[in-house]
Amino acid sequence: MPNAFTKVAVAKPNPDKVLRVARTLVYPQHLIWLIVGCIALLSIVNFASLAWRHFSRGRRYSSSTRHAISVTRIHLAAADTLQALAFRWTLPIGNSFSINFFEFAVCVAYVAALLSWSFADTTSLGGVKFDAHYYSNRAGRIAASQLPILGAFGMRNNIIALLTGIGFDKINLLHRTAARAICLLVWIHAGGRLALGLSGDDVMAENPWVQCGVLAGSSLTLLCFLTVRPIRNWNYEFFIVIHFIFVFIMLIALYFHTRARFITYWGIWPTMVIWGTDRFISLLRITLLNFSYLNPFSSKESKRALDASIEVLSPLFLRVSFKRPAYFRWRPGQSAFICFPTISALPWESHPFTISSLPKATLDGSNEIVFLLRVHRGLTARLLKEAKVEKTYPVFINGPYSNPPVLGGYNTVMLIAGGSGISFALPLFEYLTSMPQSSKDRPQRVVLIWAIRDADHAQWLAPAIRNIPGDLSVSVKIFVTSDKTAVSAENSADVSLSDEKTEEPGLHDRPLVSVDYGRPSITAIVKNEVEKSRGRMCVNVCGPSGLIEATRVAVRKPRPMDILRGGPTITLHVEGFGG
Ligand SMILES: Cc1cc2nc3c(=O)[nH]c(=O)nc-3n(C[C@H](O)[C@H](O)[C@H](O)COP(=O)(O)OP(=O)(O)OC[C@H]3O[C@@H](n4cnc5c(N)ncnc54)[C@H](O)[C@@H]3O)c2cc1C
Repeated sequence: MPNAFTKVAVAKPNPDKVLRVARTLVYPQHLIWLIVGCIALLSIVNFASLAWRHFSRGRRYSSSTRHAISVTRIHLAAADTLQALAFRWTLPIGNSFSINFFEFAVCVAYVAALLSWSFADTTSLGGVKFDAHYYSNRAGRIAASQLPILGAFGMRNNIIALLTGIGFDKINLLHRTAARAICLLVWIHAGGRLALGLSGDDVMAENPWVQCGVLAGSSLTLLCFLTVRPIRNWNYEFFIVIHFIFVFIMLIALYFHTRARFITYWGIWPTMVIWGTDRFISLLRITLLNFSYLNPFSSKESKRALDASIEVLSPLFLRVSFKRPAYFRWRPGQSAFICFPTISALPWESHPFTISSLPKATLDGSNEIVFLLRVHRGLTARLLKEAKVEKTYPVFINGPYSNPPVLGGYNTVMLIAGGSGISFALPLFEYLTSMPQSSKDRPQRVVLIWAIRDADHAQWLAPAIRNIPGDLSVSVKIFVTSDKTAVSAENSADVSLSDEKTEEPGLHDRPLVSVDYGRPSITAIVKNEVEKSRGRMCVNVCGPSGLIEATRVAVRKPRPMDILRGGPTITLHVEGFGG
């Protein structure tokens, strides 16, 4: 009689099993290397283009006249055409969201790669095509192995954003795409296992590890449905809570599911390390930046010195300012999360806002950090209700975050803002116009376009305009979009900039500010600036989705012939405030 030992010893290995186990181990690794490779490539492109701009900056053009076609500019024309097609043509998704062709291609390629690696080589040795024995576990393992990448895309302290220069909105799009793609793989994994029939230690009713798998998959699925854009727009704090709860359940359940197969190292531990590192850095930052509040030995006076003032600029806008915390440095255009513990509805509630003041180094002594807030329905509405001139409010800051464009080295910079988008455009405008004449980074021309509802808001620009050096070509075009009777061009600037500061000589004498009523024709303005420019041009836009789309339309048509004749190449930067 053969005993158990001799049975095992003589049992022939199942060649199908050997093959599929080997592929289940190796294919997820291929995908990880593919994604790491893409990130490395994007980082190289980013650093190479920064270096190229840095070393070739400082070239000045005395006229905008175009010359005969030059073949030496073919690479510029080709690169610009590619950028125009990839980054400026968009596909609408719903009413208020769109993605450009490049983003669309990246998302499709990512999902296609996950599916290809899950289903490639799944014909069994017996000739069964799409054999579930082959793809079901592989899809599950690929899903688990993508979790650290999903986590890395969603982090605030984002190393991928830093390396690739990709902005907050785009990285977040990848985070959401990865979550949905992983969810799809989880269902393929579950469907495959069901198709094979659950028996032995796979039976759900008897095996907690299988139940944990179902719980993890269900949590991820619910998460994907409950965090869609309309819900985020309806109640962001609800989204935060739901996100936290379901991610927590999913990770714990997945830990026990994968532990049963000794593969926690595939998904869970690396994800925990990435998440933990992000939280640790944030905690460290919050502690360091807000130490005077947290230090139990700080006097009341020193704590109050850090409190924020909230100024009501209009029923739609607030100006929040407070002393810049020691160690807090930022680049113009970066944002920070701010939390008002005595006003927030929830203790962890913090919101991102762009820092609209410049870092101290360029400010001649002013030590304030300033934010311009558009009033919505949540925290900002509570701030509006609470704001009192004589009162100050404890405020915690965490940052800086975001990846604003590096504007040094462009010949022409256009900053287009709608409403609160000025909080992004203004610090960049001040930064560019305060560069010393000797700086190679200094542009030749800066154009600021601001569409606002209320003419009174125009005076917020007065301090920034006052300091513009006379030798820099600057144009500020303000468009008041509320339904008022048009005013004449000559006196409109006086009306809008009529605070006591505008009485300084120089402001009205220089024809740099114009105020018009109605919506700006972005296409006409951009066309005019392109015709006047040479070298490199950077167009930046921040505001409502309509303005962003109008700007894309204005720069989306490829202009290879103009570039071959010496016309400017264009870079477009869109700041969507997370939209
Ligand atoms: C990088 C970045 C920079 C920003 N800079 C500015 C700025 O300088 N000035 C400005 O007025 N606004 C800015 N915003 C938008 C600002 O964060 C939201 O308008 C603000 O959080 C709304 O708060 P609320 O509770 O009053 O909004 P709600 O009335 O609750 O919601 C209004 C809108 O804001 C979104 N929102 C709410 N809370 C958050 C949050 N914590 N994170 C992201 N979006 C949220 C909602 O999805 C919704 O679409 C920025 C957003 C981002 C992502």
